Amino acid sequence: MLARGAHHKLSPGKTGAHKLIFHIDMDAFFASVEVMCRPKLKGKPVIVSGKPAARSVVAAASYAAREYGIRSGMSTVEAFRRCPHVIAVSGSPGQYIYVSLELLRIYKEHSTIVEPYSIDEAFVDMTGTECTWENCKDVAGEIKAKIRKRFGPNLTASIGIGPNKLIAKMCGSMDKPDGVTVIRPGEFGGVFNGLAVSRMWGIGAKTEIALNLMGVATIGDLANFPVAMLRRRFGITGEVLHLMACGQDDTPVTPYFEGMPVKSMGHEHTLPEDTWDIMEAEKVLLRLCDQVARRMRKKQYLGNVISMRLRFADFDSISRQRKIKYYTDEERTLYKVARGLLHQYWRPGQAIRLVGVNCTGLIKVREWHQVDLFMQREEDAYRKLLSAIDAIRDKFGEHAITRARLITHDASGDIDDVPLPPGLSSSPFDMLRYQDADDHIHTGGK
Ligand SMILES: [Mg+2]
Repeated sequence: MLARGAHHKLSPGKTGAHKLIFHIDMDAFFASVEVMCRPKLKGKPVIVSGKPAARSVVAAASYAAREYGIRSGMSTVEAFRRCPHVIAVSGSPGQYIYVSLELLRIYKEHSTIVEPYSIDEAFVDMTGTECTWENCKDVAGEIKAKIRKRFGPNLTASIGIGPNKLIAKMCGSMDKPDGVTVIRPGEFGGVFNGLAVSRMWGIGAKTEIALNLMGVATIGDLANFPVAMLRRRFGITGEVLHLMACGQDDTPVTPYFEGMPVKSMGHEHTLPEDTWDIMEAEKVLLRLCDQVARRMRKKQYLGNVISMRLRFADFDSISRQRKIKYYTDEERTLYKVARGLLHQYWRPGQAIRLVGVNCTGLIKVREWHQVDLFMQREEDAYRKLLSAIDAIRDKFGEHAITRARLITHDASGDIDDVPLPPGLSSSPFDMLRYQDADDHIHTGGK
């Protein structure tokens, strides 16, 4: 293992002659996580798909399933047609998020500049760290060894190493699964010029057809094609296409997993008058949960520790928290937990002066959209409702829509009946252990 010099670690990303970028992409990620949790599935054709239904699609296929021609995006029906004994499992987003965050933690041991690109892919800027062009294959091997040590042999990564994100991303897929590919500065053309333009990162079917019609078949053709003509056909994108075909890309690796710059999101409210009425406290709590959840959605955070704070008339305050087994940004979940804590810890007969709610254990959600594949229909409808409400409030102000509960005092409504998504705990194995538990909430330590 390489020693990490402190001064090296302080300045990753500093520009030298060339950058040194890793693209780390997990192999058949969802399927591999399922196999990791259920080793009996090892070596078998496994697909991860949404709710078994006529219209569900394959979200991930194990390599054994790929031998039957099964690919992600294919309908589940077609997958079964190609391989009648394929094993279909429904996804466990909580586990994927958990593993994904753990992987980022491993990468961050090598550089502070880590950019999660999707749930199973990340860019790591190794420039200025102890990793160099000479030892980069060893560093890649070290990262793979750490992943193996942490998650066992079923979870493998393919690593592409290049002088920019474009090249790292493009060479990462050349040796899958479990490969390492290095393309040094100046080597791009030799490797890629002869390949079809469709192999270039970001070129979709439409652009491919348009380029083919212009007589551009390979990446080399594109690199040598007059830029003025590309600009005429594609606008500013034409210039980008030209640069990409030459292997040029100066977009920085943008870290946003910086040990969570935002540690918590919360609101508290001092009541206009002290109250003995728990219904009054609930009303305030619901409004606070509403505000906190909305702010989380706006800033794109999910959290899994919810705390409730009370200050009594004698200024004695308490704060109690509970960890939930999945991540949320929804007020119904914040409220369900906070209200439970309120009922557990209020002191009947003692007036309440202040109520607060806070959510911690935050993760940034920008790139976790793939998880949506597994959300149930009702969940989708609920999310649509939430974003519609957020949009109206953005336009017309905070009070444009007031939840009925804030007006009616009725605290016994249907929040407790809302089905909660599958759990997330401190380890994927815990999650399996807990998956049948009726009670989705367990008390977290302070
Ligand atoms: Mg992958």
